[in-house]
Amino acid sequence: MVELNTRQQLEKYIVDNPTGRINTAELSRIFGVSRQRICNLLDSIGEERHHRAPPTNNHCKSCGKIISKKAIFCRTHAKILERHPGQYYQCRACKAYKLLEHFAKSNISFSGYETRCLDCRAEWQRNYYRTEKGKESHIKTTRALSQKHPERQRAYYQVYKALKNGTLIKDVCFQCGDSNTQAVHSDYRHPLNVTWACLTCRNNIPTAKIEYTSSPLEDGFRDFIKTKIGKTNGLGRWFEIIKQHYQISFITNQIFITSIEEYNNINGLGQQYKNLASQYMGELLPEITPKLGG
Ligand SMILES: [Zn+2]
Ligand SMILES: [Zn+2]
Ligand SMILES: [Zn+2]
Repeated sequence: MVELNTRQQLEKYIVDNPTGRINTAELSRIFGVSRQRICNLLDSIGEERHHRAPPTNNHCKSCGKIISKKAIFCRTHAKILERHPGQYYQCRACKAYKLLEHFAKSNISFSGYETRCLDCRAEWQRNYYRTEKGKESHIKTTRALSQKHPERQRAYYQVYKALKNGTLIKDVCFQCGDSNTQAVHSDYRHPLNVTWACLTCRNNIPTAKIEYTSSPLEDGFRDFIKTKIGKTNGLGRWFEIIKQHYQISFITNQIFITSIEEYNNINGLGQQYKNLASQYMGELLPEITPKLGG
């Protein structure tokens, strides 16, 4: 039997398959040559069926203007997609109808909301975070978030920890009783003071959100401890203890110094606190160190 060269094999293939599209990827696998080679040979034979069909244009449903492949309306008519809280919209992924509150906000979507619901988004995210790329991006975003809003990150962590050890118990929605709830903070300085609310009702929480103002002293002491012992475990508790003891919500330098002087009388502050706090104050305000007795 005579070995056929690729060109002859192709010619035979064309005779055997007189109609239908020609899949060059498949042929390249069968004949063991590159796709480019298959295309060139087919072109030289005068075959056309391996060329892609010209793209069919997509038109705006309202005015007929040519738009991108997956769009429904042109930019002008996309306003029709405007969404309203309290109304139901279909999730494009699971096809269920859900309240607008169950869709994530999105800047790149015309409607201002994602087309898939939060459940579908969460599932996608879980799968994505299992991939290498996902793991990388997860680390990046959490790092960015903790740099931009360290107080939020700390508060979420406190809630996570408290739920784990049982000091905080997940509750049903404060308004509708739904059991699918999230812990909502109104003041990140009180991490365990949360309202449990479902996605719909979390917008109706009566206590207004208190804007977080960072405390230079707290932030500075935190950085100091991080460089000194590598972790800041328990630091939040020290701050809470001081605030409760002095009935304040903001630790000033003066209060901090007083707490170092009186640490013995404050339940929960020990020698370690005294040492680290005086060291920090010694670096921050060297002139007061002698007074603290080092
Ligand atoms: Zn249009
Ligand atoms: Zn869905
Ligand atoms: Zn609710």
